[in-house]
Amino acid sequence: MGNNEQSARIIGHFRGEEMGPLVVAIGGIHGNEPAGVLALERLFELLAEEPLVNPGFNFRGELLALRGNLAALAAGKRYIDTDLNRIWRVRNSDPEQFTTSEDHELHELLAAIETALEESPLSELVLLDLHTTTAGGGIFAVTGDDEPSLSLAAEMSVPVIKGMLSGLQGTTLHYFRGNHFATSLPVRAISFEAGFHEDPASVELALAATVNLLRALGCVKEEDVSTHHDARLREAARGLPRLTELAYVHRIARDGSDQFRMRPGYRNFQPIVKGELLGEDCGGPITAPAAGYLLMPLYQAQGDEGFFIVQDYQLPSAY
Ligand SMILES: [Zn+2]
Repeated sequence: MGNNEQSARIIGHFRGEEMGPLVVAIGGIHGNEPAGVLALERLFELLAEEPLVNPGFNFRGELLALRGNLAALAAGKRYIDTDLNRIWRVRNSDPEQFTTSEDHELHELLAAIETALEESPLSELVLLDLHTTTAGGGIFAVTGDDEPSLSLAAEMSVPVIKGMLSGLQGTTLHYFRGNHFATSLPVRAISFEAGFHEDPASVELALAATVNLLRALGCVKEEDVSTHHDARLREAARGLPRLTELAYVHRIARDGSDQFRMRPGYRNFQPIVKGELLGEDCGGPITAPAAGYLLMPLYQAQGDEGFFIVQDYQLPSAY
């Protein structure tokens, strides 16, 4: 058992003694979001220390932690040529056909995951994709709309947003949910937004969310890998809507030609009313087409979406 495999791509590969899920955790799919990488590096330090302070410690399954966009992380940019979280689809695996830096990144990520899947008997494949946002004001998890992923995300004690996959294409979640791996294992996939890019608290929140996921999956026991960050996670989630659904995506031109500018001061989960002035572009003012909560207002140069609007979602009572 232990962290016996490291490289620029692989933060760690922790193999437990008991059979269980393969948890693939990725940080830095966007190169200007190092918090997830730092959180996973810290988690592997904690996992290495745990048997020393806790002789009964046991890990069920495996944790494979990966750095997402290496070239963009080194450059401190969201991406080099194209957004790595919009190109996860069945691909030509011949490197001579690759046209972007991100084609190579995706190829290496998939190779690492496929190798881990082949190596050991596993019960389930679970993705946790760690991100941060350009606006502060709220942490949240995004999942597919399948009940097993939604309930796992809810067990992380963070707000959950459903319906996001219909507003995007080619994300890690789409790929994991799309049965593209040569395995018949059940697959669940969650991405977690840990707060503002530059906020040191985002590292702690990403770490706490990852440990909560490992607990919810039974990889570690409730009392193991204790961090002080769980209380912070609950604190950060307090007052935020527990379950919301995507209502609207404002798309922008990738080349910046529509000159989209978000009005300053918006935060994640800020309530907005229909008709509210949210920004402007070369066509004039941009107003909210619906009431709800604002999500991921864009305050950086690179991005394909200007903002999202989500609305409260009630689960059917039989859920
Ligand atoms: Zn991101």
